[in-house]
This record gives sequence, structure tokens and C-alpha cells, in this order.
Amino acid sequence: MMTLKELRPGKSARIEEVGGEGALRQHFLDMGLIPGCDVTVVKLAPMGDPMELMIRGYELTLRLDDAAQIRITPTEKAPEVKIPSERKKTFHPGLGEEGIFHPKGTGDPLPEGTLLTFALVGNQNSGKTTLFNQLTGSNQHVGNFPGVTVDRKDGMIRGYRNTSITDLPGIYSMSPYSSEELVSRDFVLNEKPKAIINIVDATNMERNLYLTMQLLKLETPMVVALNMMDELRGNGGTVDINRMEAMLGVPVVPISAAKNEGIDELIRHAIHIAKYQEKPLAQDFCSPEDHDGSTHRALHAVSHLIEDHAARSGIPAEFATEKLIEGDLRIAERLELEENEKELLEHIVLQMEKERGLDASAAMADMRFDYIERVCEECLIRPQESREHARSRKIDEVLTGKYTAIPLFIGIMALVFFLTFFLIGPWLQDLLASGIDSLKALTAQGMEAGHVNEVIQNLVLDGIFEGVGSVISFLPLIVILFFFLSLLEDSGYIARVAFVMDKLLRKIGLSGRSIVPMLIGFGCTVPAVMSTRTLPSDRDRKMTILLTPFMSCTAKLPIYSFFVTAFFPDYSWLIITGLYLLGIVMGILIALVYRKTLFKGNAVPFVMELPNYRIPSPRNVAQLLWEKAKDFLQRAFTVILIATIVVWFLKNFNFRFDLVEEPESMLAAVSGLLVPLFVPLGLGDWRLVTSLFGGFMAKESVVSVTQVLFAAGGGIAEALSPLTSVCMLVFCLLYTPCVAAIAAIRREMGGRWACFTVLWQCGIAWIAALIVRFIGMMLGAG
Ligand code: GDP
Ligand code: MG
Repeated sequence: MMTLKELRPGKSARIEEVGGEGALRQHFLDMGLIPGCDVTVVKLAPMGDPMELMIRGYELTLRLDDAAQIRITPTEKAPEVKIPSERKKTFHPGLGEEGIFHPKGTGDPLPEGTLLTFALVGNQNSGKTTLFNQLTGSNQHVGNFPGVTVDRKDGMIRGYRNTSITDLPGIYSMSPYSSEELVSRDFVLNEKPKAIINIVDATNMERNLYLTMQLLKLETPMVVALNMMDELRGNGGTVDINRMEAMLGVPVVPISAAKNEGIDELIRHAIHIAKYQEKPLAQDFCSPEDHDGSTHRALHAVSHLIEDHAARSGIPAEFATEKLIEGDLRIAERLELEENEKELLEHIVLQMEKERGLDASAAMADMRFDYIERVCEECLIRPQESREHARSRKIDEVLTGKYTAIPLFIGIMALVFFLTFFLIGPWLQDLLASGIDSLKALTAQGMEAGHVNEVIQNLVLDGIFEGVGSVISFLPLIVILFFFLSLLEDSGYIARVAFVMDKLLRKIGLSGRSIVPMLIGFGCTVPAVMSTRTLPSDRDRKMTILLTPFMSCTAKLPIYSFFVTAFFPDYSWLIITGLYLLGIVMGILIALVYRKTLFKGNAVPFVMELPNYRIPSPRNVAQLLWEKAKDFLQRAFTVILIATIVVWFLKNFNFRFDLVEEPESMLAAVSGLLVPLFVPLGLGDWRLVTSLFGGFMAKESVVSVTQVLFAAGGGIAEALSPLTSVCMLVFCLLYTPCVAAIAAIRREMGGRWACFTVLWQCGIAWIAALIVRFIGMMLGAG
């Protein structure tokens, strides 16, 4: 039999069997790859891997290795998309109008003053961020979920005190597959929000309702926010809201988050169901008629079997039942079943598999998709092909086209870099610098007038203003870079980049998504580290962060040009290019080492949706910029401020705490202590070591400190040989990132990893410089 891997682009097939095991296989099933389903291969990525599939009306990416585990039989023609020949005339309420299913409850409301907590749950790209921003206005705060670096945003629903809404990570299923899914699931199961707002993309209902099916089993009050209705209606599609409410058993509110339509209505419904604790209608998605009732019987048998355990452990019984049948170990453990019960469960599942002719996980997924199909058939009138989809297809012909994808990607990144680091960035940086300068002058005047102690004056002006000022000058770069990034991300382009670059990055154990943070690393390590937030797996995120320092950031460029001009004026470009390449090569080598040691295993499987291209919402972009800027400033005024003061202190005092000139300072003494370490590299001069300390604050200061300290002795060219200057360059390329970057790493990965980065990078730099010196000596350079 054929596997999906062998299917050529443009050809269709029916899935016969899905191989693999455990969580990975569950993930395939959850994404809709289920036996009996039709798939079409749309195209291969420009490098030949991964592939793009069309399944149930949405596009997925899949690596060839994973596709090899899916067995198929080819079918003649592409699966028909059902389009009703005659438009069904249905009554449907317009945007924001109320359905008739939902009788406003009048039972016992929760006592006045109870905090109504909501969880906002939905697929990625369903418009969650947009909706969250609409719901909360500006009163929101960002943090992390305990124990993991996954963004947690909380806010109050605007206009309603005593409410709190949490934006959960975008997920496709309630299986504990990625850390995001686990976070979302644990939040809903353990923190027990008073209600769930489930956002569903109406233009991609089949995919989105899969999560809904599982959420409905949680016995938590829920409202479905049917988003992107503007797009669906704009293309002539529509949804029979009342029928949908009846079939799902929860209120459904059609909205357009981007156009702010139906939001008030959604809020009212949400508050109401939370207040009156209106649970979803208890109903089966299995039916005794389907497949001779095999799944139906199994589900009911198991649910009766575990009822008591579910109640005791506080997990909704039907949810637990489905997860047990899917073989979810975490839930099984929490239920604490007895031996007999476990055996019974096993027998029931085996019997079902036998009767159904499918394994348990596939049977569950199939049951959900079956019901979804029925819901879509009865409630959804689809447009032929939406304008947005047709447009996306056209754009994709170019942006992910075989010959155009990579050049265009390079072009787009180059443009972003040019605008950020050469055009807008420097201009804003100058503006900010002159602002800081005038503030500094003002402060100086003020302190002069107030007869402030001279040491304090020195601390404030030369220490804090210089140190924090130089770090804050990154701020414009960060804001501009994130502006472009969020445009690219929200429009859907970054998903394509991941698709195009995946094969390349897989070679070093990462997935396509990591390319963007690494490229940003060439600009500045700080936003590069911050941008790893969008990576879907914890392992990939950590590994990517640790690799970004190998990409030479723009602040190292002055160091390169300073030394190169002094020693090799004729070969400047050659050497600078060589340094950049050396950084990349070292990064690749280290990645291979990481892969065998710290980060064993493989990158996450690449089952990812390619959403339609959409116009990003200005509000989301503004919100993100504000968050990133705030985040960075907070760090500038904590970690970085402390580091600045410490360095200033070391630089200006000796061990008897007398105010001294730099050569007698503690810094010089400490540098002096470290000099022996640098002798093997030919850099055994306290002045060089001091300048490297300066570089820890900001890379540019390597140059300024060197200039100042060597000014007396006839300049740098006298003090170093050309070979040692190359060693110095290599050391500067690889040694610890600046304090701002370390602070960013600490925020993402914790203090230990931050310390590790500092020591590890210095170690690598030391070894690399030593090797360079050795090779140089062998070649006879002095
Ligand atoms: P998330 O990944 O779920 O957080 O989705 P986002 O909120 O980032 O939205 C993804 C994209 O869809 C963005 O480009 C939004 O501007 C766009 N979008 C969100 N809601 C709507 C909507 O109701 N209608 C339309 N046409 N676009 C929307
Ligand atoms: Mg988002």
C-alpha cells in the first residue's frame, strides 16, 4: 500500500491507516488525519519537505517522515466540496442578534460580588488576541503561567467589575500534547473558571469545532463566540445560529472581533451564563445508530464505570471517559482506578476496537468529526471559495513558490533589517539620545545648584545615565522590529516562513519557526530572545534562545570595524564577513552538540495550519509594541540598573573605598586578576580585559574603553600584533552577550540559564580564540 509521502502534488487519496504512537499519533488524529478521510497534496515546500495538505477544507503542513506513517489508497478525483445547488433559505439572526434557543435563565444566580472568572479558549489564528483586546480594553496584564514560560494574559471585561478573563494559549485539542495544550487543559480542569468563552473561526468551522466538542464535555458554562463572521458573510456564506445552538447545546454569538461587532452581545451572554452557571446541554455526540453503536456502548459503559472516581477527583465524568478511551495516562492517574476497573476498561476498549474496526483514539476523533460534519451540514452555508482563500492561494503561489519563496524571504528580511537598523532605528535612537542628553544636562544643573555630593553626581551622571542610557537606546530598535514582526506574524506570513525553512533547520534539530528569532539575532539579541515566545515547544524555545548569541548583533559591528581599520585596512570586508560566518558555523556546531546533550530528541512534529492571509489589526500591533516596550523598560530599570551601579562602583573605587582614577580601581584590579587567563590568547593586558568588561554592559563600549585606555601608549596598533587582534575579534564575537540580552534570557529561562550562558559563551570564546591563535602561529603569523 502507498503512504502519504509518495503522493504527488495535486493528487488525492483516502487515508487507510495512521501509524505512529502515543502523543504524536494523537496529535495527527486531533488535526483531522483520520482513517477514511480524504486528503489532497497541495504542494511541497521549495526544499522538498514538508508538504502542504488539504483536508476537510483546511490546509495543514506535514513533514515527509511523518507522512510516511500514514497509509493511503489513491483516489481518482479530488474530494468534492459539498456546495448546495440551491441556497437553503434559513432564518438566521444577524450579527449580535439573539438566538431563540437560549432561554435566559432565572434560577439561582451566584451571590452578588462573586468574582466571575472566564477562560478564553480557541485555536491559533482564530482571532483570540483580537477578541481579548476588544473584551478587556486596556486593563490587562501579562505574565507567565506558573512553571512555564507561556504567556498568560489576564484582564477585566470592560464595564464589568468583578470579572477576570484569562487568555489561554491557542490550542487545537485538549490532549496534553504540547506545553500549551497542557497549560490550557490544566487551567480549565484545576482552576475551574466560572465560564468558558470558546472562540470559533466561522470560516474554518470543521477544524475549530473539534476543540469545542471536547470543551462541551467539561460541565463548565460556555458560550461560543463565532468569529470572522464578516468574512463568511462577505463571501455569501451564513450560519444558522439557532440550529447551531440547539445542536451544540450552548449559546452561540456571531461576532467579528476585528470589526468590533457583536462584542457587547457576547459579553452579556458570557456574564449571564457565568452568573447563572448555565452548563452546556448534556448530550451524546455518539449515537446508537452509528457504526452499530460500538462507540456509543463503550462510552456509556466506561462512563458508568468511572463515575464515582471522576466525582472524587473533580474531573467531569464524560471528559474523563473520552480521555481514558484515548489512553490518556495523566487523567488515568488522577482517577485512581482500581485494578479490576482498569481491566474492565481495557476489555471494553478492546471490544469497541474490534467492533468498530478502528483503534480507540481514531474512533474518538472520528466520532467528534462525524458530529461536526453534521453540524456544518445543517447550520453552515458555505461560500464557493472565499475571496480570502483565493487571494491566499495566489499569494502563496509566489511566497511559497518553488523558486520565489527563498529569495522573497531573504528580500523581506533584508528590508525589515534595513528599515530597522539603518533607516528608522538610528533616527529614533538619535532622537532618544538627545532627549536623554538634555535630561542629563538638566539633572547636572539641578545637582550643581543643590550642592549634591560629587560622588553622587558622578554616580548619577556617569554611572546611571551612561549605563542605562546606552541600554535604553536599544528601545527604538526593539519597538520597530516588533512592529514589523507582528505585521508578519498576524498576517500569516511567519507560518509560511516556517513551512519554507523547516527542512534546513531540522538538520540542526529545530523546526522552521526558529529561523525568525535567529535572524533577528543579527540585529539585536534582546528582541531575538523576546521573539521566541511564539515558538510552539519549550525545547525549541530554549535551544533557539541559546543559539541566538552566535549571530553577530549590530552592536558588535563597531568593534569589528575598529580593529579591522587599525590592523587590516585592506581586508576589512573579508575579515568582517569571515567573522559573521564564523559565528554561524559555531552556532551550527553548538546546535549539534546541544542536540546530543542538553536537548535530546527531535523538534516538534510539524503539523501546522496555514491560515489565510489577513490584514493585521492595528490594535493588536499597538498592544504588542506596548507590552514589549514595557517589558524591556522594566528590565532596564531593574537588572540593568543594578549592573550599571555595580560596574560604576568597581570602576571608581579601590578596595579601601577611596575614589580613584580608573587604573587604580577595583575594576582594574579584578581585570588584573583575570589577566593570566588571557595570556594564552595573547591578550594579557589589563586594559583589554577592562574593555571586555565594558562590553558586557554594551558591546560598543569595548571600543570606547579601548580608545581611552590605550590613548596614552600610542594607540591600539602599538599594543597588539595583527594575530592577537584577530584573537580579540574572535573573542568579542563569541563571548557573553551584553547585560540587556542576559536579562532577557533570564526572563525567558531563569537565572540559572542566564549564568550558564555567560560562562558557556566565555568558555567557547576562549577556546575559539586559542585555536585561532594556534593556527595563526602555525602559519607563521606573529
Ligand atoms: P490568534 O492567533 O487567535 O490570537 O489570532 P489573532 O487575534 O492574532 O488574529 C489573527 C488574524 O485574524 C489577525 O490578522 C486579525 O487581524 C484577524 N482577525 C481577527 N478577528 C477577525 C475578524 O473578526 N474578521 C476578520 N476579517 N479578521 C479577523
Ligand atoms: Mg495571538
